[in-house]
Amino acid sequence: MLKASYTGEFFMLPFFEYTPVDSMFYRKYIALRIPSKIFDAHVHVFLNEHVDMIPEESIKSFWASECAHVLSCDDAHACARELYPDTDYTFAGFPTASPEADTEGMNEYVARMGREGKCTPLMMVRPEWNAAEIEETFLAGNFAGLKPYPGMVGGGSRGEVGIFDFLPHAQWDIINRHKKAVMLHIGRKERFADENNIRDLLTARDTYPDATIIIAHLGRSYCPYYLEEGLRKIGDPAGFYFDTTAVINPDVYDIAFDAIPAGNILYGSDMHVLFWHGRREWDIKDYYNITREEYSWNINRRSPEEEAEYTLFLYEQMKSMLDAIEKHGLTEEQKYDIFGNNALRALGL
Ligand SMILES: [Zn+2]
Repeated sequence: MLKASYTGEFFMLPFFEYTPVDSMFYRKYIALRIPSKIFDAHVHVFLNEHVDMIPEESIKSFWASECAHVLSCDDAHACARELYPDTDYTFAGFPTASPEADTEGMNEYVARMGREGKCTPLMMVRPEWNAAEIEETFLAGNFAGLKPYPGMVGGGSRGEVGIFDFLPHAQWDIINRHKKAVMLHIGRKERFADENNIRDLLTARDTYPDATIIIAHLGRSYCPYYLEEGLRKIGDPAGFYFDTTAVINPDVYDIAFDAIPAGNILYGSDMHVLFWHGRREWDIKDYYNITREEYSWNINRRSPEEEAEYTLFLYEQMKSMLDAIEKHGLTEEQKYDIFGNNALRALGL
């Protein structure tokens, strides 16, 4: 199972260990620059009962699921308060993407959290679901958008899955007719640089002009090559929003802030996955996570002294964004937009 953690009265396992290094990093690089209000476009929230059937082998098969936590909506708020004590932090919440998890149960849960004012819910969909039933659930749950996933095709493929394979046209049509949003975690090995992905994105933009398209993780561009190539192939990025979720690479942010209008960039954290301490190393097309926590994928170990200096990945990402915003001369207003107002607009809030 995913690691169950509780920050509340049933304290079992902390989501993260907050160290003096973290506190120093926060004060030095974040506290004076972070907006007083943030809307995080990308948080996965669900309960243990929704995921406790996922086999251990599936969890171990992908680094991100191995370090993911069960994160209730209340716990996500508790984590945000601990990480960013000076910031009023709200977020869009949606299920986790495992094809083996209880997707319907998670959708009900996030819709309920939405009714309770604890998150803005997005509905996770499976490609084989009936469009009329999706539409009924979507409207009843007052969801702000759909969250499809390539991994939902063919029982969990992470390969060459096309955008209209994991989000069929009938589901696009729902979003378009109701003028709602879709957050796309694009597939394929070449990510945002893949010509087929670019063709599908342009087709979607033309065919569904009233759908708000959010491309998650800057098109899974954790390395600069994918974003640079993708933006070159797509031409004008107008009409697409991009979330920055899980991107910490300063070179990627340089490309993003050079080529994408600041009004189209949304902050996202991917809370539930990235609570570990560490960094990323990269070359032009590949990245490697380095951490001090014990995960099976953690094979690039450094000396204990060096690892003790790691701070939270989420803090590294926050610093990268704040640095890039400063470096590119964006205004305070644009910074607030990137950390919240753009997402509120994209999600029709
Ligand atoms: Zn995510």
